Amino acid sequence: MGQECKLPVSPNTQSLFKQCNTAIPSFLGDSGILIAVGKGNSYNRLEPVDIDGTKSIIVNQEKLSWADSIKDKPKLDFLANIKPAIGAEPYLKMNITRYEQSLLCQLRYGILQIQLETGRYQGQVRNDRHCKICEGGVLEDQYHFVFKCPAYTLRRGIFIDRIKDKVVNWNTLSETEKFTKLFNEHPRLLGKFVKDIFLYRKSIIYK
Ligand SMILES: [Zn+2]
Repeated sequence: MGQECKLPVSPNTQSLFKQCNTAIPSFLGDSGILIAVGKGNSYNRLEPVDIDGTKSIIVNQEKLSWADSIKDKPKLDFLANIKPAIGAEPYLKMNITRYEQSLLCQLRYGILQIQLETGRYQGQVRNDRHCKICEGGVLEDQYHFVFKCPAYTLRRGIFIDRIKDKVVNWNTLSETEKFTKLFNEHPRLLGKFVKDIFLYRKSIIYK
């Protein structure tokens, strides 16, 4: 076992992150980094983490993710289409819990643990990464998860009603425009909704 650090220890994980020069955005924070490398449980349990082991996982994932990103162009399109506001990502500056920030980062960078991403680790081709929650035989990507999956219709209804109060032309926007608006102008509402449906999704998956 290599060098160890007790979590959460920001400077250690952040410097590990910089050393690896990885594609995972550094502002994911400790929890985001460890979730991204499959060690989310270690973070939750405050367990010691093997730095060398984690580093090699990140390096390997970076290679995989780079190879995948060339094949998986829609993932890059999602990132490119959701135009960031000028300056830092707004959800990093606002009064949003760290868990919600982490979920928003993961959603934005296409590494949220929905089937689009977990199917990649399982070697599924993109179009076979179907939603296991509604079992509608459709790809579970960010759009399906946030805007379409019928499993979250009730929860989504409350969220969309709140958004429509703030965005009068909501119904005329494309899904990409809706995501852009939410990330840039209403990250707090988006963060709360994503947390709500992500935890609900988890409770169904692990039932
Ligand atoms: Zn679904």
